[in-house]
Amino acid sequence: MGRPRRPLVAVLAFSMAAAACSGGAGPDTTASTASTTASTTATTTTPTATPTQAAAPHSAAPNGLGDPYFPGLGNTGYDVEHYLIDLTVEPALNRIEGTTTIEAVATADYDSFTLDFAGLDIADITIDGAAVDYRREGPQESELRVEAPLVTGESFSVAVAYSGIPDPTEPGALGFPTGWLTNREGTFVASEPAGAHTWFPCNDHPSDKAAFTFRITVPAGMTGVANGTLVDTAATAAGAATFVWEMPDPMATYLATVVVAPLERIEHPPMGDVVLRDYLPPSMDVPESFTLTGDMIDFFDDLFGPYPFDEYGHVVVSGFPAALETQTMTVFGEEWFDSPFTEFVVAHELAHQWFGDAVSPSTWRDVWLNEGFATYAELLWVEHLYGAAAMQAEAATRYADLAGTPHAITGDPQPEALFGMSVYQRGGLTLHALRAAAGDEAFFEILRTWMERYGSGAASTAEFIALAEEVSGADLDDLFQAWLYSSQLPPLPSP
Ligand SMILES: [Zn+2]
Repeated sequence: MGRPRRPLVAVLAFSMAAAACSGGAGPDTTASTASTTASTTATTTTPTATPTQAAAPHSAAPNGLGDPYFPGLGNTGYDVEHYLIDLTVEPALNRIEGTTTIEAVATADYDSFTLDFAGLDIADITIDGAAVDYRREGPQESELRVEAPLVTGESFSVAVAYSGIPDPTEPGALGFPTGWLTNREGTFVASEPAGAHTWFPCNDHPSDKAAFTFRITVPAGMTGVANGTLVDTAATAAGAATFVWEMPDPMATYLATVVVAPLERIEHPPMGDVVLRDYLPPSMDVPESFTLTGDMIDFFDDLFGPYPFDEYGHVVVSGFPAALETQTMTVFGEEWFDSPFTEFVVAHELAHQWFGDAVSPSTWRDVWLNEGFATYAELLWVEHLYGAAAMQAEAATRYADLAGTPHAITGDPQPEALFGMSVYQRGGLTLHALRAAAGDEAFFEILRTWMERYGSGAASTAEFIALAEEVSGADLDDLFQAWLYSSQLPPLPSP
């Protein structure tokens, strides 16, 4: 595409998650709402099991990991190593049925523990193959207490068999529901930040990442797409097929996706060892911006370090006024193809594979580590295409927008502004300021070291600041304080 005109890129990152939702009054949003309504009955199921009466040498593991914005998310007492999500999907009914099996290691001694899981009918739960009692608890009954002990250091396998119509979250900061959603061609999943546990039981917090296997059985004419590598496609009864996907690298729960629709796989020339594939509606021509993915990986590799996964690409869906960086398989709303921003959305979601996916935020308060970095990657792509002056002009435009708009505290935006312009644009300009202060060499060394040190886990803002000071040798307290924690906007940085 041509050089981005001034106002266009400026609204890009913000519009990606937020402004785009203003277009969300279309028919597909209605579809999601309808599915929410229809599934209400699925949440009223009463578990048949009863709590055990065993003596309690230890206490029950508490719900929640104490995330400052979502205190109920995540669970204590164990660390998940692997999820096997085995689901049969009936898109026409928006119904799922199957089993999620969680391999985990206990990190403490407790009499019982919880999974995050809301709605859906549970058939049974087993631990290492033996049936166990369970009950729902907590707000919206979104905690599933499993009456089985945890012994520090011991591995266990918990399997939850369930069925029903998933009930997505209420619209939050994004302005639309998250979780398992419907659209005109089938179903898709976009779970950030808190929708994953509405379709599979999990430790629903980015601080506990795990490998995933998906076995998705779909009706004739449909394709089942998930994260990672497609390792098997097996025909089953009546033209149905099971698609098996492996995501061997640690992945946060909100980045897990399943898309079921008529989709065509498009292969692109690989970039180095990275397999590039997109899943598009059958009638769709390959978007020009998708053909740039290899060049973008090549460019970002040099700046951020090697692309962190084996594969990358997009799955295009209707009814999603956004794009989400679901690991190795970005869910890309088709509405972006009507906008002049497409190429920059492609760059933004790709950059998230390093920032957000490989290095995930320790808590949701650290979300600028995702969005500020992916937004700054758009500016880096502008610089790559059009030069430093164009990039600085673009930064100035975004700065002017920020200066003219009341916005949240970047380093502590609160849940309602989780995807607001302070997180995206001021977060991006925080990195611009860091680059100006540290110089190019130290700045990109900071980014590469960040990837090397935290690249399969999660990290916090404090850890980023400490690392930036360590690599640059500079005292950066004032800089980060001004950009991340002050309500006043510091002067526009100029490298
Ligand atoms: Zn983003």
